Amino acid sequence: MSLIIPTEPIVCKNFVNGNFVAGKGEKVQITSPYNGKIIGEFHTSTKNEVDKAIEDASNAQKLWAEVPLKERTKIMFNFRDILLRDLDVIAQLKCAESGKIFVEGKAGLLKGIEVLEFALALQNMDMGGKVEVSRGVSCEYRRVPVGVVANITPFNFPAMVPMWTIPIALTLGNAYIWKPSEKTPLTSNKIAEALKEAGLPNGLLQVLQGTKETVEAIIDHDAVKAIGFVGSTQIAKAVYDRGTQLGKRVLALGGAKNHIVLLPDANPEMAGIGISDSFTGCAGQRCMAASVLLVVGHPRDTEKHIEKIIARASSLKLGVDMGAIITKQQVTVLHDAIAKAEAAGAKVLLDGRKTKLGDDMAEYAGGHWIGPTILDNILPGSQAASVELFGPILSIIRCKDISEAMKIENSVAYGNACSVFTSNGGLAEKVIKMASTGMVGVNVGVPVPREPFSFGGVNASKYGHGDITGEHSLDFWSNVKKVTIKWEIQNDNNWMS
Ligand code: NAD
Repeated sequence: MSLIIPTEPIVCKNFVNGNFVAGKGEKVQITSPYNGKIIGEFHTSTKNEVDKAIEDASNAQKLWAEVPLKERTKIMFNFRDILLRDLDVIAQLKCAESGKIFVEGKAGLLKGIEVLEFALALQNMDMGGKVEVSRGVSCEYRRVPVGVVANITPFNFPAMVPMWTIPIALTLGNAYIWKPSEKTPLTSNKIAEALKEAGLPNGLLQVLQGTKETVEAIIDHDAVKAIGFVGSTQIAKAVYDRGTQLGKRVLALGGAKNHIVLLPDANPEMAGIGISDSFTGCAGQRCMAASVLLVVGHPRDTEKHIEKIIARASSLKLGVDMGAIITKQQVTVLHDAIAKAEAAGAKVLLDGRKTKLGDDMAEYAGGHWIGPTILDNILPGSQAASVELFGPILSIIRCKDISEAMKIENSVAYGNACSVFTSNGGLAEKVIKMASTGMVGVNVGVPVPREPFSFGGVNASKYGHGDITGEHSLDFWSNVKKVTIKWEIQNDNNWMS
């Protein structure tokens, strides 16, 4: 499907108490990575607006907490129907503002809907547990809402990352404050529209557009009890520190530098497709994208694999098979990183700086483009080996054995994902055990766990405990009340009861 890039700026708004209202702060323009043109604008939310929206959310949440789980879930079923009905329209808008190609825009939303389906299933899970601890005395767990929770999201997944948390947090009885990325806020209005149509009571989803100041006002508000964050490591750490210093529960997911270990016994076809798609998908702007390829063994045993990776990556057409980079400045960052690696002795096997848009893509000439780039002979510890570049660049490091490869993997500060391509289960197991990441893949280039398995990294890729989705997210988005009950006097009363 060909993309529709808005030609008139869309006015993006806050969504507060069921209404779309413009913020009163400064104006921010939204640029499409496809053509470099302004496609939207919004006004940031002032501290007063943030405070009022959170107070209203707090009042709405008190009523929401009284609504039985199964009734809350009915609204979430409607939400799912609406998202599926509007899938193409929402995907189009996401792509226009984030630079994704259409299939990626659609896939991200579908992954978000999978998390929604996990939330729908909560109504059928035993989330309590009850034991008679002594005669006539029972103890039980009751899962109760946290209250008002907040989430701050990045540009690269305008629907999927918010959808990791919106359905679970709302279904568990919380009110949800959402600060979308200032680079891709348009999608947030579509998601708010869908929840409004689904019947979500006013005040339970408050969307506040803005930047740093809006985020800080949200974190600082007393009524906000739990804060989720997804974005770069530096900001994740700052949000984590600010929230936890106020005694709040914070789970802040940061950046990544993901490794793929290529062993000579890997299926060349699987490796070619999996590794190429991993570093080029979403133009490398995924926290799960492959960034470093650790090639193990003698070069003659892995040349065929590398040829397949190059063949697939070089066949991608810009704007058709691979999307654009979020900003023009980021394209310059990527060019500089390639030049720096080259100056340090890297061999450029595929040079995305030279990739041109097709003749039929003239309308995108002003966009933010770079093609897939593969750099060989990268040195461990160099910028290309250890810094998150966030673009379609694959850095190859040659290693004599798995131990050397995993030593390099372990030396990087991040800890999101690591994959291995091999046909040997024992060697795969070795990599799984040695990887210093929260997520590991075997013959899978982007090892995103699917529901009901939780998503989350470790080390500099995550600040806080637990995971943001799946079973391990429930303790973050709710509290467990421990209740001990006795209804009759017992003859054998003991010291505990
Ligand atoms: P970013 O850190 O620049 O922005 C994320 C959010 O933080 C935005 O909403 C932004 O407005 C806000 N923000 C920016 N500066 C702030 C400040 N000083 N104080 C408070 N809030 C601030 O990230 P981005 O460029 O939008 O997204 C890309 C990054 O996100 C990459 O590093 C990528 O790896 C990471 N990411 C991680 C995951 C994950 O699951 N670990 C998922 C997606 C993206």
